[in-house]
Amino acid sequence: MDRADEVSEEAPGTRFLLFPQSPFLENNPQLELVEISAPPGSIGPGPSGPRMYTVDAEGKTTPYGAIVPGPRGPGMYLPPWDGFIHPPAMPDADGNFTHIDPSDPAFQSAHLFGSAHFTMDVWEGYFGHPIPWHFARDFDRLELSLLPSLDNAHIGWGFLETGGTFEHGGEYRPYSLNFDVVAHEIGHSIIYSVVGMPSPEHTSGEYFGFHESAADLVALLASLHFGSVVETLLENTSGNLYTFNRLNRFAELSENAQIRVAANNKVLSEFTQGWTSEHALSEPLTGAMFDIFVDIFHERLLVHHLITPEMEDLSDRLEDSPEYSDVMQAHFDARYALNPEGFRIALIEARDYLGSYLADAWSLLDPDMLTYFGVEQAMLAVDRDITGGAFQRIIKGNFRMRDIGVVQVGPRLADPDETSHAVSTRTRVPD
Ligand SMILES: [Zn+2]
Repeated sequence: MDRADEVSEEAPGTRFLLFPQSPFLENNPQLELVEISAPPGSIGPGPSGPRMYTVDAEGKTTPYGAIVPGPRGPGMYLPPWDGFIHPPAMPDADGNFTHIDPSDPAFQSAHLFGSAHFTMDVWEGYFGHPIPWHFARDFDRLELSLLPSLDNAHIGWGFLETGGTFEHGGEYRPYSLNFDVVAHEIGHSIIYSVVGMPSPEHTSGEYFGFHESAADLVALLASLHFGSVVETLLENTSGNLYTFNRLNRFAELSENAQIRVAANNKVLSEFTQGWTSEHALSEPLTGAMFDIFVDIFHERLLVHHLITPEMEDLSDRLEDSPEYSDVMQAHFDARYALNPEGFRIALIEARDYLGSYLADAWSLLDPDMLTYFGVEQAMLAVDRDITGGAFQRIIKGNFRMRDIGVVQVGPRLADPDETSHAVSTRTRVPD
């Protein structure tokens, strides 16, 4: 199993300071130091590197991907930006970008670059090989573009462009500072690269739901590479992640937006009559994957003797009783206090199992007529391959809980609107 952690321990990378989640969600947001997989000195002003570069354009008004008039008729507006730019983020004498203060306008450029690169590093670690850009036919590098007038963030043919929102009392909140948003968009590009686009006549609704789910999972597992995210999650729950499934306490237990999306209880049978939003349709699949993650974490805790089989029995016996939550939480609190570091290691093991499984499973998928049940079959095949089938019961059980493989998804009920990621500039390919 390839682990991004191990890669970063081997060779020194270029350092960035990132907000593990949107700094606007917290009162006192803390930056965390990360290293991207590029040797110090290899990332130039922008930042710019061999795989991607940031541009803070001056006077840019049109988003990339828009259809604009051209000398030979209408065509896609695409990178590279060739106009004036605002001052780029500069590396320090050691080649790092940690000296730039968040109040410096160049911080956004550095944060966008660091977030996109770090996410790609994590996932290339899980895939075990470089992930080519899906637009490699036309561009070697991804242009990371800051466009404040865009109330969105989107990835497309050669670009990842982030704007911001004024919807919170007039304060401008740039998406470039929201790691989850940037990581989610990188997730879409990973899926375009490793799964590909279905042919129009073989495009299933579940393909669109799968895309959103995968993008959320890319962001979730990338964010679990921040030490502070793991620590907060464990401190707040004492490792009792089942509490997410049993209690409606997400807001209280986790401010992390990705965990809140993933810890849902949606089932696929809600969509037998049809669907309108691929974000909603993605939730049963993401929820199944989150539950698999929680179950694998539980298995790792047992393997390391950090919880006891008796706790499992007790959990089964109290299943539907009113005292369930309090009794189980007291057990977890006691156990976690004995060995928090052991719990942290078990969580990271579960994270990396899921990451490697997803990477291998996605690599097996055919985009035509893609179904969630097909995703399950791929996960089961990967599990047989890697562990000889250690998690078959966990995988099957969690997919059945979501009614996946039991019901058929109905048709799309309405034309996609502007919130759709699936039918947008993202999927547009120049002729
Ligand atoms: Zn999306």
